[in-house]
Amino acid sequence: MVIPAFVQPSPAAGSPAPTTSADACVAPAGAVLQDQDSSDEQVPWERNGAGKVVITFETRDVPADWVAELQKGVAAWNRSPCLDTKLVETCLPSTNCVTVTVGEGAGSDGNFDAVESGGFTTAGHIDLLSSLTGGERTNVTIHEMGHAVGLAHRLTEGVLMNGDTYDDVFDPDEIDFQNLLVSYGGELQQPGKKKSWIVRLWNWVESRIG
Ligand SMILES: [Zn+2]
Repeated sequence: MVIPAFVQPSPAAGSPAPTTSADACVAPAGAVLQDQDSSDEQVPWERNGAGKVVITFETRDVPADWVAELQKGVAAWNRSPCLDTKLVETCLPSTNCVTVTVGEGAGSDGNFDAVESGGFTTAGHIDLLSSLTGGERTNVTIHEMGHAVGLAHRLTEGVLMNGDTYDDVFDPDEIDFQNLLVSYGGELQQPGKKKSWIVRLWNWVESRIG
């Protein structure tokens, strides 16, 4: 059976998509998560072997115009060599599944709730605020998908994974892609080597002092 490759939309002229310098999902030696907002936390999905981590977003309850926003998120996050995100009508059993609804946004512009087990995300749900329009829709959708692939909030203002909503920020940046390398291409994925809180605190202090 031949499965046609998904054709990704090319970036609009004049706004080239940021590139990621990594072509393999391998964390550089000693790399730690950067620019992390300590009031937020997100753990990665478990990666099995050297393949990409497949994360499916279930669209059965999502209106078509919002599915188009999710598709932009798939294109954005699949620029990471660690990820193979995709949209499905209904998740298959025993797959990494994130359900999506458009409604109250869980009291915010959007929200991602993770189900976690053993230090990994095992399932999740995105709730998007139906009254969002224009660029905010795109920003919030791709932001929540960023949480769903394992990214926490960033401290830097004006970037996609900052906790605020922006109507003109749609692209992950190099630090997001580096953080994905740390989450999926390093020791966080090695059983029995999960970092204790004291190690993570030290890494955070180290990242702050340069
Ligand atoms: Zn957020």
